[in-house]
Amino acid sequence: MKCTICDQRIKRSEAYSGDEGTFYESKPLCKTCYYEDEPSATVFYGRGDNEPRIISRTRNETERDFTVQWHSTDPWRGYYETKSEKYSLVNNAEILAHHESGQMLKEFDEKVRELFDSSGIEYATVFARSSNVFYQNYELYVKKDKELTARLLVAKAKAEVDYNNPKWYRNIIFDSNALAKLAKLFPERSIKTDHDAVRLVEELGDETLTELQKRLKAEERKVLK
Ligand SMILES: [Zn+2]
Repeated sequence: MKCTICDQRIKRSEAYSGDEGTFYESKPLCKTCYYEDEPSATVFYGRGDNEPRIISRTRNETERDFTVQWHSTDPWRGYYETKSEKYSLVNNAEILAHHESGQMLKEFDEKVRELFDSSGIEYATVFARSSNVFYQNYELYVKKDKELTARLLVAKAKAEVDYNNPKWYRNIIFDSNALAKLAKLFPERSIKTDHDAVRLVEELGDETLTELQKRLKAEERKVLK
C-alpha cells in the first residue's frame, strides 16, 4: 500500500492511519507523515503544566475534546476553526506579531487564568494557525458547566486591562484613507495607526475638535489659493 500524503510504499503491517475526526481519518500513512504533519492547533490545558497537545491533519492528541476545520476565506487564505463538545469558547483574539496589543493580551491572559484558578474553573487555551504568518488565533475555552461564571470573570479581567479600548486594534476606527488625512493634518505627530490617532485624541481632549476644524480650514485655504 501507499502513504496517502507522500505516496511512499509502506507495508500494511507498518502503516499508520489518521486519527478519528482528522482530515486523514482512517487513511494509510507512513510513520513520518503521521507524526510530522504540521500542527493546525496547539492546546494547553489549565496552566500548561502538562505537555501541549497538538491537532494536525493526521493526529488529535486531545482525545477529541477539540477538533479543527480549515475555513477558507478565498482560494489562498483561511484559518483553522476549532470546535468542542465538552468546552465552550468564552473569548478569542487575534495575536498580531509585533503589535502594541501583545502586552495587554498577556496581562489579560494572566488575570483571567488567576480568576479561573481561584474559582476552580477548568479551562484550555487553544492557538490555531492561519494562512497569515503575522497572526494566530488565541482562544479561551472552559468546561461547559462553568460557562456563565467564566464569562463574568472574562468581563472582569477585560475591564482591568482596558481590553476593549480601540487603540489596541487596527483599522477599527480609521480606515487607511482617514489615517492618511489625519497624518497630513497633524504632520508633527507622524500618525500611522489607530493607536497614534487615539493618543492624539487622549492628549488634546476637549481641544481635539477645535484643533481639527482649525487645521481643516487652513487646509481649505491652501487649496483655494
Ligand atoms: Zn508519507
